[in-house]
Amino acid sequence: MSLKKYWSKRDFSKTPEPRGKVLKGKKNIFVIQNHFAERAGHHHDLRLEMGGVLKSWAIPKGVPQKEGVKRLAVEVEDHAVEYARFEGVIPAGQYGAGTVEIFDQGKYKLIEQDKNKIIFELRGKKIKGPHALIRMKNTKNWLIWKIKE
Ligand code: MN
Repeated sequence: MSLKKYWSKRDFSKTPEPRGKVLKGKKNIFVIQNHFAERAGHHHDLRLEMGGVLKSWAIPKGVPQKEGVKRLAVEVEDHAVEYARFEGVIPAGQYGAGTVEIFDQGKYKLIEQDKNKIIFELRGKKIKGPHALIRMKNTKNWLIWKIKE
């Protein structure tokens, strides 16, 4: 796991986002951030702590809260674990410019995982229950949906 890509996209003298580092240990935290981005528009960012970083997906229409709804989740660069607490304004001209706020957070339980599939149970305040993330063939595009409990 590496944060090289995360660091290279940001100028930490200009953005309030944490520089962070790859952490040891496993806390199984997740966060869903509301990102009101100037370029990409409003979306959710889902981040799952794995291997000392936050594996991250941008979800244009948000994490589905109802069974049977499949949504696109675009894999983005791993973020620093410290990002799970980040809320603030990324200044105009910087990568991801716009406002970030925490929509939900908590722990998750990993149920199953391979290169193209992650099954996990979210234990947040708003979003709970088992979810699936499945990668579409050799792309950064995944589908996310809520699994029947
Ligand atoms: Mn985002």
